[in-house]
Amino acid sequence: MTHRIWNLSAGPAALPEPVLVEAQESLLSFGNTGIGICEHSHRGRAFTEVIEEAESLCRELADIPDNYRVLFLQGGASTQFAMAPMNFLTPGTTADYIVTGSWAKKSVAQAKLFGHVNVASTSEATNFSTIPANNSFSEQARYVHFTSNNTIFGTQFRTEPEEFSDDAFLVCDASSDIFSRPIDVSKYGLIYAGAQKNLGPSGVTLVIIRDDLVESGSDQLASMLQYRTHAEAHSMYNTPPTFGIYLIMLVFRWIRDNGGLTAMETRNREKARLLYEAIDSSSIFHGTAEASSRSQMNVTFVTGDADKDARFIQEATAVGFNAVKGHRSVGGMRASIYNAFPIEGVHALIRFMAEFEHANI
Ligand SMILES: *Cc1c(COP(=O)(O)O)cnc(C)c1O
Repeated sequence: MTHRIWNLSAGPAALPEPVLVEAQESLLSFGNTGIGICEHSHRGRAFTEVIEEAESLCRELADIPDNYRVLFLQGGASTQFAMAPMNFLTPGTTADYIVTGSWAKKSVAQAKLFGHVNVASTSEATNFSTIPANNSFSEQARYVHFTSNNTIFGTQFRTEPEEFSDDAFLVCDASSDIFSRPIDVSKYGLIYAGAQKNLGPSGVTLVIIRDDLVESGSDQLASMLQYRTHAEAHSMYNTPPTFGIYLIMLVFRWIRDNGGLTAMETRNREKARLLYEAIDSSSIFHGTAEASSRSQMNVTFVTGDADKDARFIQEATAVGFNAVKGHRSVGGMRASIYNAFPIEGVHALIRFMAEFEHANI
């Protein structure tokens, strides 16, 4: 078996090992077709079965109501920052945005190209260390946009925003916590997620969108940028990212075989609890996010001394922890512990932190 280390990367991130082993075989021959998965036509029977299974598992895992479409698109979450407002806003109309980090700021900048943005709340004043408790929603917003998990700052919404205008629908960038816990899709109009954190490789964006929004989207846009195009063509308007969709299908099977989203949540809670407990009981590490807003996916922490942080990162890397360095806008350390990151890796990190503390007290 190839030697693998603990990968705490924020994205692209760790994938379940059984998925990688199976994909490895399929690269040479998918099933008994004698043709590798990347070499199959997207219109052929083999791939058609893959994309159909990927969609049906997605629906089963998240209990997606029938009046929602599941799409596998390209261009990452960053394209959705533009595609959502492009389809749903016009120059006179407003969308409410909850600004909880860098990704949210980027989504605001894109929305401003197409309509009016009301920032309902922002936690920028505290360097995004918290999820704002109160929002000033506008009366006539077309939609309310939020980022369910803030990958860089290590904060996460506990529940969906509430008490916004009845006419508005929820739009969520769920890139870094999608399928880490059960989700009530019926509360949303649109959910999107780049796959490379919790679902598969980069290159695929999962989009879950309500039927009436597909219909109400502008038909005056380039075909590739209309949700309608992809909904009507079942994500096959052009050549879809076939390998990525295949890997997502395998990840969905893995989630199902490991107890579904409820079991994912239980595991993720436990992993995060152990790590935060280690941080809170330590005399040199401190969490950067406010406790009530802490993310179960990206655990951010510092020593408060940049040199000590650098030493920790260097020593952790040397013993086999990849990508424990925090994002430059927070500094310090970040451990990304998505679905596929095993609890054994969390135990190993906690042991290493204790050793480091002992040597540096
Ligand atoms: C990584 C990330 C993005 C950017 O995704 P791309 O697929 O690279 O465009 C957007 N939002 C969040 C919350 C992310 O974690």
